[in-house]
Amino acid sequence: MIKDNLDRIKSSLPSSVALVAVSKTKPNSLIEEAYAAGQKDFGENYVQELVDKHEQLPKDIRWHFIGHLQSNKAKQIVPFVYLIHGVDSLKLLQEINKQAEKLNKVINCLLQIHIAQEETKFGFSFEECESLLKSEALKDMKHVNIMGFMGMASNTEDKDQIRREFKSLKNFSLKVSHIQHSTFNIQHLSFGMSSDYKIAIEEGSTMVRIGSSIFGQRDYSKN
Ligand SMILES: *Cc1c(COP(=O)(O)O)cnc(C)c1O
Repeated sequence: MIKDNLDRIKSSLPSSVALVAVSKTKPNSLIEEAYAAGQKDFGENYVQELVDKHEQLPKDIRWHFIGHLQSNKAKQIVPFVYLIHGVDSLKLLQEINKQAEKLNKVINCLLQIHIAQEETKFGFSFEECESLLKSEALKDMKHVNIMGFMGMASNTEDKDQIRREFKSLKNFSLKVSHIQHSTFNIQHLSFGMSSDYKIAIEEGSTMVRIGSSIFGQRDYSKN
């Protein structure tokens, strides 16, 4: 069943769009099923859950951290994480850089931009993000590789609003694409989830994060 879901979703994605299978709260057995079907990129939101799954599951899985990362927890995932999607402060970026330096690694990051109406979502405003990208502080960080941006649209039925929010992120990425330095190379725009990934692709997403359409609805009642 997971294989059917993956096949169906993948056949609807252009080949330039990467699929991150969001496996938060799901047991290893289901991740193994997706892995057996060829899926290698998985997304998790909680540090401890990610650390445990990384320990237990095949080592060629590329783990994406897509949740809100507290600075003091960065060191737990830096040793193995493939891409951190939700970097939303200079402080966090500096901490990732510091932990990566200790291990002589370069960690892939996306800066999270707040594009939704809801206050509850995290992320930089466009202005904050642009000034960060232009700041001197960034030039000293040799152990992070900012690969692009991540965003989450409002949780709404209003498809036009979702489309507008995605469009604003795409436009922002074009606006700042002339900014050049060694730690910043736009290659990815991570937006689109189960409910809105088709709109996301139309609006220029290169990486969709899909959970429930692959693994089924999440059950939080047991936590
Ligand atoms: C949970 C989550 C997803 C996946 O959501 P679905 O609706 O299950 O596809 C994607 N991105 C982020 C940041 C998430 O927290």
